[in-house]
Parts: sequence; C-alpha cells; structure tokens
Amino acid sequence: MALNVLNVDPQTFHRVERCGHPLVVYECKLGAVPCGMFVEGTTTAVSAHLREHSIPGPDNASTSCPWASCSKTLKRGAMSRHILTHLGVKACCSVCGVVKCRLDVLRAHIRSSESCRFAHADVVYGPEGRFLVPTGRTVTAAHQVQ
Ligand SMILES: [Zn+2]
Ligand SMILES: [Zn+2]
Ligand SMILES: [Zn+2]
Repeated sequence: MALNVLNVDPQTFHRVERCGHPLVVYECKLGAVPCGMFVEGTTTAVSAHLREHSIPGPDNASTSCPWASCSKTLKRGAMSRHILTHLGVKACCSVCGVVKCRLDVLRAHIRSSESCRFAHADVVYGPEGRFLVPTGRTVTAAHQVQ
C-alpha cells in the first residue's frame, strides 16, 4: 500500500488518487502552532482550509493575517487570495509571459490588453510547492513543475 507522506485533507487526497496525476500542495503555516497539513494553492482550497482554522467573522470584517510572521490587517473575504501570495503562487499570461502575483491582477491584464485578449492564465507554482503524487512519493516542485 502506498504511504502518502504529505498530510492533506481527504478531499485533496482522493482527487489525486482519482486523477492519477500529481497536485502541487503547500505547507500550512497558519497560526502559532503549525497544523502540519498541506494545502492546494487555489483560493477554493485555501478558503476551505481557513475554515478549518476557524478564522472567524463575516467576509467584510477586518482581521489580521494568521500566517506565520505576517500580521497584515485585511478583510476576511480577501484572506484566501492573500494567503496565496504567502504560498508564492503566481499567474502568468500565456501570450506575453508577464507574471502577476495574483490571478485577478493577471485577469485584469488580459482584459485590458489588446494583444493578450485571448490569453489564458498559467499557474506559476510557489518555490515551496511539493508534489502530492498518487504513489506517495514527493519531490520539491520548484524545478519540476513548469
Ligand atoms: Zn492549517
Ligand atoms: Zn499575510
Ligand atoms: Zn499578456
């Protein structure tokens, strides 16, 4: 039986098993005591994981970022996008190759640019990303995923 050395939520685990191809995940550094979980670098996965940490309050409430040494104050609703910047996940324009730190910023570039109008956003993985692979083996993603 394959042992998966990365601790991820069952949903992520089953998706990797089902698709049979690796997924890039990042170590969670939320809160004072690390939970030891690895989270996918998407706003959906991050916001689901933020709920696990019971980051309280409505979306428009101001809260301070619980990530490691960061203590930036921002709206609860903007938290998952902000966490992605801690993971180092960026977005790259498929036409001109410009890299933006946030997907919504890149989308604005694509919308506003004449030559990049039909571009799509490619994910640029963060330097600490790790492969979650169905066989349970892990490698550092930095030079492997492009
Ligand atoms: Zn966590
Ligand atoms: Zn932060
Ligand atoms: Zn572009």
